[in-house]
Amino acid sequence: MSGRALLRELLHPLFPDVCVVCSSMLREDEDFCCSACRREFSPFPSAVEAEMMLRSTIARRIGPEFLFDRGWCRYLFHKGSPLQEALHAMKYGGVHALCAVFGRELGEWMLTEGKGEVPFDIVVPVPLHRMKKTERTYNQAEKIAGGLSAVMGMPVMDRLLVRRRRTPSQTGLAAVDRLRNLAGAFSASGVPRGARVLLVDDVVTTGATMSAAADALMRAGAGSISLAAVALAAKE
Ligand SMILES: [Zn+2]
Repeated sequence: MSGRALLRELLHPLFPDVCVVCSSMLREDEDFCCSACRREFSPFPSAVEAEMMLRSTIARRIGPEFLFDRGWCRYLFHKGSPLQEALHAMKYGGVHALCAVFGRELGEWMLTEGKGEVPFDIVVPVPLHRMKKTERTYNQAEKIAGGLSAVMGMPVMDRLLVRRRRTPSQTGLAAVDRLRNLAGAFSASGVPRGARVLLVDDVVTTGATMSAAADALMRAGAGSISLAAVALAAKE
């Protein structure tokens, strides 16, 4: 992290009315990120296009075996972009209220695009290992799921899925190694039989985490798994 970025993160709790990306003062109608930085985000033009790219990315990276029901992601994630900085602040910078902002926005978009249809019964965030959660103090996926659920009305069930072991960082690993890295990492219990689950995370890179989590939920009795993420990592 650059010195400037570090300083900004340290100062942010003291000056919450500045943009998490560029540090300019926010207007009253702006939340955490100024409109100029937001314009640099790359939203998908439609949920249909987002789902197609999510399916093709996951099929290309980890193979066609992961059969999820529906999939949503609001943005395309480019390395070094303002969106990456905003998501980084959300995940590591302690700006946890930003997670709910992204979650609400995602939920509103899903409702608009689906003409009010909500094709799942429960919302399950991808869990962090408890030690990692203690270090970071919160799980960004839980907060995103909370914002999404507040808009869409389906309950968040954040105790069904557990991360049993700490997996080494996935960054830099090929998709096949990510899958191996995650084998048996999750366990699930208490899943309502046949429930249509919406699995929520911040960013989908290869789909390996979602696939491992989905596998545990299906073995525990889920009827189907759909995916929602704030962003899909662009092919680099
Ligand atoms: Zn800005």
